[in-house]
Amino acid sequence: MQIIDTAFDMVELSSKYRANSFKIGFVPTMGALHRGHLSLITASKKENDISVSSVFVNPTQFNESADYDKYPRELESDLHKLEASGVDVAFIPSVTTIYPTADTTVHKLSEIATLIEGAHRPGHFNGVASVVKRLLELTQPNNAYFGLKDYQQYRIVQHLVDSYDLGTRIVGCPIVREKSGLAMSSRNALLSPKGKKTAAHIYKSLCHVAENKSIKNAAELETIGMEYLKSISSLEPEYFLVVDKTTLKHNNAFPNNRIALVAARVEGVRLIDNIFLDN
Ligand code: AMP
Repeated sequence: MQIIDTAFDMVELSSKYRANSFKIGFVPTMGALHRGHLSLITASKKENDISVSSVFVNPTQFNESADYDKYPRELESDLHKLEASGVDVAFIPSVTTIYPTADTTVHKLSEIATLIEGAHRPGHFNGVASVVKRLLELTQPNNAYFGLKDYQQYRIVQHLVDSYDLGTRIVGCPIVREKSGLAMSSRNALLSPKGKKTAAHIYKSLCHVAENKSIKNAAELETIGMEYLKSISSLEPEYFLVVDKTTLKHNNAFPNNRIALVAARVEGVRLIDNIFLDN
């Protein structure tokens, strides 16, 4: 596995691969790697000749500086995991490599960027757009792999790639979970064992609503989900939404394309998860 930390070296290497018609697959991460990340790498290895993965905790997508400061950083063990996963290139840029000058770009994002996470985390998706655009320009992948755990992010990145003509296919990969159902997340490392048990109720709330999916009224389903979450002590729900998977808006007229999305805090750690209700 080659470890690269400069923009110049990354562009040189990816240009060489592209010139030789090697298909490049790319998996961007913020590190503290878990099986969710590794599933994206497995998907990349299946479809590409070369797989590149990055570890970069992107400061511009954190709307709370305390969240950025406490975000888990485990570079040494991440490098071991990347090596064991069979990744060809680990790209580990510094903040100045990604942002040689302060990032002031305001991206023209998909309409859905103002909704849900966009409304709860001002500036978050603009920061995601900056880092993804820069990383795709440096790594020049044919395919890039994103988790459906961050469903809204996946959709916004797809739109970003189209609007900037970046020429990368964006692949959405299924959510990988702990045995308890808790969606794997780097942030889970910040939870106590008790906190993890509490957090498993986030997925249970989604399953509970999925069991009631014959109810077609979104508000009714949201109340069922919210009531479930509120019944769990030490769990602080932020939202429970049932929306159309395409528009991310309520659509009671055609309730056959629904996604339930949830954000909640446990022990001060903000976690998100979702489930498709119709397919
Ligand atoms: P992160 O390091 O949290 O920024 O995540 C990097 C990529 O891994 C994103 O595309 C995430 O959606 C994806 N990812 C994170 N957790 C999971 C999971 N449990 N299952 C599948 N993909 C995931």
